[in-house]
Amino acid sequence: MRASRSILSRLAAVLFAGAPLVVLLLIVSGLYAADQALARTDRAGTDADAAEVASLVRNFLDLHAEKLRGFHGLYAPRHQAPDSLHFGFMVGPLRANGTAFRRLWATDPEGIVVLDSLIRGKPGPSLRGVDVDTLTLLRVDSAVARARATGQLQMSRTGRGVSGDRGFVMVSPVVVGQTVVGLMLGSVLTDSILPWLDTKSAGDRNALLIKSGPDTITATSRSDRAFSFDTSTTEVETPGRTRWEVRITHPSASWPMRVALWAIGITALTTLVIGLVRERRQSQRIAERSQELEHLSTELLHANRAKSEFLANVSHELRTPLNAIVGFVDLLRDGVYGDLAPRQIGPVERIAASATHLRHLVDQVLDLAKITAGRLEVHTDVVDLRSFVLDIAGEMEALITERGVALSLGIGATLPRIRTDPTHLRQILVNLIGNAIKYTNAGTISVRARLVGADLPPLAEDRTNRTTPDGVWLRPLPSPAQGVWIALQVIDTGIGIAEADFERIFDEFEQVGAGPRGESMQRGTGLGLSISRRLARLLGGDIVVDSELGKGSTFTLWLPVDPADLKLAEERRSPSRPRPVIEE
Ligand code: ADP
Repeated sequence: MRASRSILSRLAAVLFAGAPLVVLLLIVSGLYAADQALARTDRAGTDADAAEVASLVRNFLDLHAEKLRGFHGLYAPRHQAPDSLHFGFMVGPLRANGTAFRRLWATDPEGIVVLDSLIRGKPGPSLRGVDVDTLTLLRVDSAVARARATGQLQMSRTGRGVSGDRGFVMVSPVVVGQTVVGLMLGSVLTDSILPWLDTKSAGDRNALLIKSGPDTITATSRSDRAFSFDTSTTEVETPGRTRWEVRITHPSASWPMRVALWAIGITALTTLVIGLVRERRQSQRIAERSQELEHLSTELLHANRAKSEFLANVSHELRTPLNAIVGFVDLLRDGVYGDLAPRQIGPVERIAASATHLRHLVDQVLDLAKITAGRLEVHTDVVDLRSFVLDIAGEMEALITERGVALSLGIGATLPRIRTDPTHLRQILVNLIGNAIKYTNAGTISVRARLVGADLPPLAEDRTNRTTPDGVWLRPLPSPAQGVWIALQVIDTGIGIAEADFERIFDEFEQVGAGPRGESMQRGTGLGLSISRRLARLLGGDIVVDSELGKGSTFTLWLPVDPADLKLAEERRSPSRPRPVIEE
């Protein structure tokens, strides 16, 4: 669905970007071409039928003309019309010859009908002794005149015969030397052509019309409910000067297909156009939306920057009076202004704790604002991790002891030095160790460092979950895909963090309810981890957490190791110790 949508939107883009009219015109011309091809097939069928019928009509006329001419040799003796015996002998073969002559006549040189013979059909009134020129019923007079004048076989116009049937007469002059010595005439009923025309296409025919000038010679038709017809006309040259016209009408067989073609084509085209228009509107809407979003995000960016600047300014402004408060409270506690009365000690201690907390909060807000505004700089220095961590641990020892937990350090002396910003690293470690102290009621806080790299074999202990003898809970360390890293871990046996909160705790002002709300929450600001992670990333590393509720947490700070420093450390290491790691 989504794929077809994206295809449609791409098509819409192409059509609207390019020449939509041209594409639509192309589709319509395609439809028109298909329609015309179907129509042509139909017309070709009708044309073929008309040509076949015309040829059959021609054969019919030729056959009859041929038969009449056949009398010439028999029309003897010279200058005489045949007698009745002789005539009967002449006409006999015609009866068996499949011709459609209705009646035959022979005339003497004067043109008087001397004999006639009925070949087919009902007998009509006898015409014996009638001058052929008076046979106007079938309009033969002009044909006879032409036959006499030309000495060629002629055909009369069609008309009604004596019996009332429609027909025509063929007039064949009998010529001896240069003289017309008589005429043979044969009348043919026009309907007798019809059985000849029963061709293969006759079943499809809607109408057949054979005409000579304004005269209809013969016609058939049947009512058909077709919507469209094809008509084809072909001419047949008859003996003499007349021309017959064969006109055939077929219902268009492809008409339903053409209607369906246009219906489907136009429906598809309409659907396509509607789809394209919709798609275009949609993409316009999306463009407008994304513009709005862009606008909003710029505004948000500005607002965020303004907020950071505001926070930075406020924090900065708050810092001076807070320093004064903390300073003077310290002086009060130290008795510089005289000994405190026992009743005053408690409130002064609370003022001191609150002011210190507030100053810590303000410091952190200031740091965060600086990081967000990109104003925090990195001053890289070479750091020997072991002494660095020992230093910090020493500073925090009082706090640890006060809390009643043990501290264990595992930083190998052979670890490579790292190049990093010591101030930022200190801040991260103080925060991580501070958190461990805050959220651990009993047990051990352990700070360990190990070298981890794609090309270094993992320590045995890295492969499984385990708990160290002092109860520190460990999980396997993942191996980074590239490079060499120092994984600096702060591990505690404290309250732990639910897996669902692993990412949330790194958000600003996020404090998860791991313990009862109040005590632990009040002591924190919800900014420490957020700042630490941002600082770690500023140093080219990262912080991740692994934890289990009630068991403890492991915060791992990944710090990149320069390959040159690694080489140096390897050279310093004794050959008896192949691994660069780590003592506990
Ligand atoms: P806070 O000042 O509240 O400690 P942090 O950003 O440092 O803010 O920590 C965010 C939250 O992560 C804390 O409120 C706490 O719920 C949880 N957290 C941090 N460190 C630990 C830890 N070592 N053990 C258990 N929970 C921790």
